[in-house]
Amino acid sequence: MQLLDGKVASKAIKDEVKNKILALQASGKKIPHLAAVLVGNNAASESYVTSKVKNCNETGIKSSLLRLEESISEAELLMHIKKLNDDEDIDGILVQLPLPKHISEEKVIYTISPEKDVDGFHPVNVGKMVLGLPTFISATPFGIMLLLQHYHIETTGKNVAVIGRSNIVGTPISILLSRNSPSGNATVTLCHSKTKNLEQICLRADIIIAAIGKAEFLKSEMVKENAIVIDVGINRIEDKTKKSGYALKGDVDFEKVAPKCNYISPVPGGVGLMTIAALLLNTYNACVKRDINS
Ligand code: NAD
Repeated sequence: MQLLDGKVASKAIKDEVKNKILALQASGKKIPHLAAVLVGNNAASESYVTSKVKNCNETGIKSSLLRLEESISEAELLMHIKKLNDDEDIDGILVQLPLPKHISEEKVIYTISPEKDVDGFHPVNVGKMVLGLPTFISATPFGIMLLLQHYHIETTGKNVAVIGRSNIVGTPISILLSRNSPSGNATVTLCHSKTKNLEQICLRADIIIAAIGKAEFLKSEMVKENAIVIDVGINRIEDKTKKSGYALKGDVDFEKVAPKCNYISPVPGGVGLMTIAALLLNTYNACVKRDINS
C-alpha cells in the first residue's frame, strides 16, 4: 500500500506556483491577488479560509480577507462582490461556503465574475469544464486530478466508482475522469444516496472516490484487492482527547481499507491539501490570463 500523500503532492504544486510568481516578479509583472470573503463565524469555514490565506502568503500570492457579519444582507454581500469584480488588482475571488441561510449561494456564485471565479463554481466555468474547454476547474476535483497525476495513476480504461454527486465534488470529478483526455478516459459510475447495489459497484471499481460526508462510510468489504481509493470526506467527530475537542475523519474506514489498496489518500493530509494547491494554481492562472487579455 502506498499513500497518495497530499503533503508531498501539494508541496510540489506550491513550489511550482512559487517559482512562477518569482518569475513574474523578476519580469516586473503583476503578482496574483486573491480576495477571500468570509461571512459569519462558522468554525470550519474560519479554519479553511485561514489556511487558504496562509498558503497564499507562503507561495507569494497576495491575499485580502474580507470578514463580514453573519447578519449581512444578501444585497450588501452582492455589493461587496461587485466591488471585488471591479477591483483591477484582484485576480481571484473566493466566497467561503456555506453561507448563512438568508443568503442565496446561487446568487452569490452567479455574481462573481467568471474571470475571477477561481473556485470554478460559476455556471460559465462549469459549462466550459463539461465541454473540455480551458477554464477554472473547481478546486477539489482539480486537486484530485493533480494528486492522481502526481502519482502517475493510470485512469485510461479503468472502472471508477464516484460516491456522491454534489456539484462541487462528485459530479465534476466524474466528468473529468470520463472525458477524452490523458488523465481521463475512465469508465465512471456516479453513485448517490439512491444507488442500488453500491457494494457490488464499488467491488468492481479499480478506483473509488468517496465524497459522501459520512465518517468511515466506505468499508473494506466494499473494496477489491489492489484498488486505488481517494477519500474526499472531512468529518469532524467529537474527541475529548484532542485539544480542539474533535478529530477529523474521512469517508473511508482507513485502517481496514488501506491494507487492501495499492494506493489510498489519508484524511487529513490528502485531498484537503490538494484543494488548496489547486486554488493557488487557479489564482496564478487567473492573474496571467487577465494580464494577457488586458
Ligand atoms: P454533499 O452533502 O453535497 O453530497 C453528498 C453526496 O453523498 C450526495 O450526492 C449524496 O447523494 C451522497 N450520499 C449520501 N449518502 C449516501 C449513501 N448512503 N450512499 C451513496 N451516496 C450517498 O457533500 P460534498 O459537498 O460533496 O462533500 C462530501 C464530503 O467531502 C464532505 O465530508 C465534505 O466535508 C468533504 N469535502 C472535502 C473537500 C476537501 O477539500 N477535501 C472539499 C469539499 C468537500
